[in-house]
Amino acid sequence: MTEKFYSWLSPKLEAGPFHQKGGCGIIARQPIAKGEVLVMWGGRIITSSELDFSVPDFSKRVLQVDEDLFLFNPLVNDPADCFNHSCDPNAGMNGPTSLIAMGDIAVGEEITFDYAMCDGSAYDEFDCNCEMPRCRHHVSGADWKIPDLQERYAGYFSPYLHRRIAASVLHL
Ligand SMILES: [Zn+2]
Repeated sequence: MTEKFYSWLSPKLEAGPFHQKGGCGIIARQPIAKGEVLVMWGGRIITSSELDFSVPDFSKRVLQVDEDLFLFNPLVNDPADCFNHSCDPNAGMNGPTSLIAMGDIAVGEEITFDYAMCDGSAYDEFDCNCEMPRCRHHVSGADWKIPDLQERYAGYFSPYLHRRIAASVLHL
């Protein structure tokens, strides 16, 4: 392995093929305790005007990190970009560029997070087939406004979305 990655991926995790969900996924290879850091993403910070939707695997390599700021991974096929979305996830945001375990995770479990925890604009909306009973079938940049998600993901949104939620509560 000579390729240099910008991100840190927990050595307890492994990226593998996951054909049902866009090519790859992240699986726990060792038990993980609630609150453990799973990934710290690195890359280049860009604004929405710099988003290039034509790059390969765009949606895996771009993460919204603040109002009109995005983290872009210049590398293709970085294992750290293989975390899939779920509408009933086991990981949440730990700051703008990191994920932590929301509960204990067993060996063999796939690690997922809800893109509503980080995405507050329409750059990466999609129809979801995560097959969880809670699946909301369409994932949009406005999902952070859903009261049920605000309750379940309290403490697990990106900081800029926590600020939006706090501001929206004040203006009720
Ligand atoms: Zn879903």
